[in-house]
Amino acid sequence: MNRRSVLASLGLGALALSAPSLIATPVAAQPVESEVGSAVAVNPETVVYRRGSTLFRLPKSRQRRMAWTIDDGTSVAMLRKYLALVESENVRLTFFVYSSMSGWKTLAPQLRPLIASGQIQVGNHTAHHLDLTKLSTKQIQKELWTCHLFMLNNYGVDARPFFRPPYGAINSKVVKAAAAIGYTSPVMWSGTLADSTAISVAGIWRKAKRYVGNEVILLTHANNTQASKVFGKMLNLVSQRGLQLVTLNDAFAKSPAVPSQVNSQVQDQSIVVTWSQVTNAQTYDVFYVESGVQQTQRATGTQFVFSSAQPLVDYQFQVRANVFGVASARSDLTPPVHVTPPP
Ligand SMILES: [Zn+2]
Repeated sequence: MNRRSVLASLGLGALALSAPSLIATPVAAQPVESEVGSAVAVNPETVVYRRGSTLFRLPKSRQRRMAWTIDDGTSVAMLRKYLALVESENVRLTFFVYSSMSGWKTLAPQLRPLIASGQIQVGNHTAHHLDLTKLSTKQIQKELWTCHLFMLNNYGVDARPFFRPPYGAINSKVVKAAAAIGYTSPVMWSGTLADSTAISVAGIWRKAKRYVGNEVILLTHANNTQASKVFGKMLNLVSQRGLQLVTLNDAFAKSPAVPSQVNSQVQDQSIVVTWSQVTNAQTYDVFYVESGVQQTQRATGTQFVFSSAQPLVDYQFQVRANVFGVASARSDLTPPVHVTPPP
């Protein structure tokens, strides 16, 4: 099959033909900084996402991978089934949240720790599931931003840059409007179980056998519980085909922002280092040199209290953020500070 017929068979013909330049070409990974001599390994499979391209597939990798993405969430019962799957089977899923559906709020307490750990990722599927190509730039942005704030307030995460336009309806106006507010990565799909339609379980299973594969972005829904009847078989298929399930962040890791406003201050016999929070950072590493040897301390918040500083020795600090296992570059060195000996 040529590309036109492949895309047409996915129901993406019109889109792909009208916007061929939007097809993603992920660029190969570069370590965020030289890590020679450090214990931190740079994952060679990390791919830096090239901004401004529409994603249909995962980037090539030495490991066989598939991203299972789930849209909508009109069925709370089905959302619960996905969450049970994540909790029991250690699978990694990406949900595209249609935020005016009540299940996203009801299940927020259960979702929050799974999102914080990175096992579940959330992307933006807008507030009201409208065809964005029929809206003005302002309306498009409002649809995305309402959903954005919902996720920020309920899950504590900034879901950018990933969004999926409802119905897969996208054009250059939608792409531009979304990018202007940071949603620079429209996510389409390369296979779907078509489970939002009146399809039989046998039909869903046929689709699964057809599409579960390497580099596939698979689309399913949380709108009825039909597909949950093939979950067990699906996971077997995933492992038979040697695939690892990954989230979009796993596959398209963004380079995290460098912590800013890094500041060190002497308080009594300690040095207190503070910095501004980096979106989605789970931990921070604080670096300093002591007796000619570089030391690293891990912090979970935005402060590190260095209580073992030697009096009259100057210390300088650098901080980096860790987001879903990807480290940022280090901040600049802070000016030297020292503690004075106790009187
Ligand atoms: Zn949808």
